[in-house]
Amino acid sequence: MMIEDRIGSKPAPQPLRTVQAFVNTSDVETGREDLATPRDLRQWLSERELLKGDETFRDADLRQAKELRAALRQMLLANNSGASDPGAIGVMNRFARTAQMVLTFKETGEAEVRPAAEGPDGALGRILARVCASMADGTWQRLKACKQRECLWAFYDRSKNHSGAWCAMSVCGNRTKARGYRNRSRGS
Ligand SMILES: [Zn+2]
Repeated sequence: MMIEDRIGSKPAPQPLRTVQAFVNTSDVETGREDLATPRDLRQWLSERELLKGDETFRDADLRQAKELRAALRQMLLANNSGASDPGAIGVMNRFARTAQMVLTFKETGEAEVRPAAEGPDGALGRILARVCASMADGTWQRLKACKQRECLWAFYDRSKNHSGAWCAMSVCGNRTKARGYRNRSRGS
């Protein structure tokens, strides 16, 4: 059975949607983990055509994927707060080197960034390529991790002025407000 895309009610357009779904393979709030084993990871990647061969995935590959996922989530939090995260950027650069990202020109004349590495490294590189493409098409800045720290769900902010901070105002927005109220009353 296919592992479903976890995009919720605010899906990003492709190719960014795959990045959103990758971040949401873990749900901070419920503890759900779609990538519990190296086999799950392999299945998830091949179902999204990020993996071409039939390589065996090891525990180390799963750890790498989770590290990239955590860095991406930090990048999405940075999209929400506006403050960049040097730690996450360092991790992204390391993955870009491991995947041997190269710039190529297609027959159509369009430029494309893609990984020269194969196997698990190449598959994670194809996720980086989607990040890069979405930065170029202007959609990246709208993909955010929910500001509510027990949530951190990746959502696509379609608001006119890019001001959306929560995956759902009705859930996390109100929860944040309620906590602010509680904190204030506790302080008085
Ligand atoms: Zn949320």
